[in-house]
Amino acid sequence: MKVTFLGTGTADSFERAQSSILFEKEFSILIDVGNGALLRLGQLNKKPCDIKAVLITHIHLDHTGDLLPLLKARWLSGVKEELIMFAPYGFKNWFQSQLESSPYLRGKLKYEIIEVGEEKFEVCGFKVESVTTKHSVESRGYIVDGVLVTGDTSPFKELYEKDFEVIIHELSLPSGFSTSHTTPDNLVQFSDVLENKVVYFTHIYSQTLERIDEVMEKIGFGKVVSDLEWFVRE
Ligand SMILES: [Zn+2]
Ligand SMILES: [Zn+2]
Repeated sequence: MKVTFLGTGTADSFERAQSSILFEKEFSILIDVGNGALLRLGQLNKKPCDIKAVLITHIHLDHTGDLLPLLKARWLSGVKEELIMFAPYGFKNWFQSQLESSPYLRGKLKYEIIEVGEEKFEVCGFKVESVTTKHSVESRGYIVDGVLVTGDTSPFKELYEKDFEVIIHELSLPSGFSTSHTTPDNLVQFSDVLENKVVYFTHIYSQTLERIDEVMEKIGFGKVVSDLEWFVRE
């Protein structure tokens, strides 16, 4: 399995695409489709038809901004196959409201929505476990073939007790985000468990980037990733 970070920025990013990660085996799926994800897919020579399923962590713009554009690109390029979208409860209503405000898309987009709580399922040959996380809106993390993607969450012990070897963790700064995101201080508190895992940090605010050396020195483990970095897991 190859995992490529399409977007490693967040809502204030101009220099990075927003949250999106590509998982590839025989088929390709995405976790989140933030703004800029389509451009990054294009840089990898991917076509709209190549993405078979999408796992959405939560309905915030920096995680869903390119979702409708992906569906529209599939329509315009003649893809008949439905895009399977897994998402937290409430996603169907949100998606319907998007179509209500954009009548020209109604009846054109091919998709299936599956709302998930905490469950295990398979999609496109990937084994997935969805985990309820702690964010400001209904949210899920996903473990895909042993790789845990936290999405946006404040950290909690039960999350780290799940079965995974690699963790793709959100990173935020304390100011203004401490209630529903993960701060460097939080990560230090959980260093006992996380030090033994392969840890990639993503969802990097520009103010975090400005002091990234200081932030990473404080955390003491893991790696900050940039757009289009990738790793392979057997
Ligand atoms: Zn969020
Ligand atoms: Zn976010």
